[in-house]
Amino acid sequence: MVLGHESAGTVVSVGNAVTSLKAGDRVALEPGYPCRRCSPCLSGHYNLCPDMRFAATPPYDGTLTGFWTAPSDFCYKLPENVSLQEGALIEPLAVAVHITKQGNIQPGQSVVIMGAGPVGLLCGAVAKAYGASKVIAVDIVQSKLDFAKSFTATHTYLSQRVSPEENARNLIEAADLVENGGADCVIDASGAEPSIQASLHIVRMGGTYVQGGMGKDNITFPIMALCLKEVTAKGSFRYGSGDYKLAIDLVASGKVDVKKLVNGVVPFKKAEEAFQKVKEGQVIKILIAGPNEKVEESEGLDTSVDEKKLKENEKASAAGGCC
Ligand SMILES: [Zn+2]
Repeated sequence: MVLGHESAGTVVSVGNAVTSLKAGDRVALEPGYPCRRCSPCLSGHYNLCPDMRFAATPPYDGTLTGFWTAPSDFCYKLPENVSLQEGALIEPLAVAVHITKQGNIQPGQSVVIMGAGPVGLLCGAVAKAYGASKVIAVDIVQSKLDFAKSFTATHTYLSQRVSPEENARNLIEAADLVENGGADCVIDASGAEPSIQASLHIVRMGGTYVQGGMGKDNITFPIMALCLKEVTAKGSFRYGSGDYKLAIDLVASGKVDVKKLVNGVVPFKKAEEAFQKVKEGQVIKILIAGPNEKVEESEGLDTSVDEKKLKENEKASAAGGCC
């Protein structure tokens, strides 16, 4: 199966009825195509369409290919100041936009984000753009937190091997959230059971909790905290109406700098090494040039894989905490 769902490209040709695009236009590609007829589609929640055809989701092939055919309204023309490379990152940013919308974040609020992987980092950036005054990044890997701090986080918290309640108490104190009774919104972008458990103890009375990360199907969940604090709990899946457009606006206006997440670009033939490099945990995003693209030598990246680091990161991921 062909992989890939985070992509941008240049239009080669358009159908007779297409008026919004022309050959040569640079576009970000939304990679899932809903039926447009079912009740989720008609109610404006097309991400929930049961007949969605989504790239790299069996049985559908992905976008890591030379040519791709898409409905014109799922191709978003990039403004002149947004590069194709940034265009490829509109997909994970749209995921973060959707998660953050579910969090209903208001200006001045505090937001805790569990997991400082790409989606967690982008949720922090979007929350900041929405006016959050405190963005607290949480992870089990210090180097990821250091990056989060240099990206958009106002505070970081290194998760300890203690109970979720104790981690929650320590975080609330460290991020000066005691007076607020916890965070206004907690986003889990890790899917890890201990993070999810801590989230319910971090959120304040009447606050909002959003599950963005995906991990195990079933976990032990602190449902009493949800009930007693009257927490609004929401799921988040991919992205829907308006999310891609907002993601592009955030990049074009300079509010979210997705370039900072890119460690390099590799030619198509080095795709496998790029996947290994990400698995190794030393990079955030590596872009793979399409088979028709020429990659400049300067954009090359050392793709030699460090087996020791690869094993260490696999262990860290198994322990939970990264997205
Ligand atoms: Zn549908």
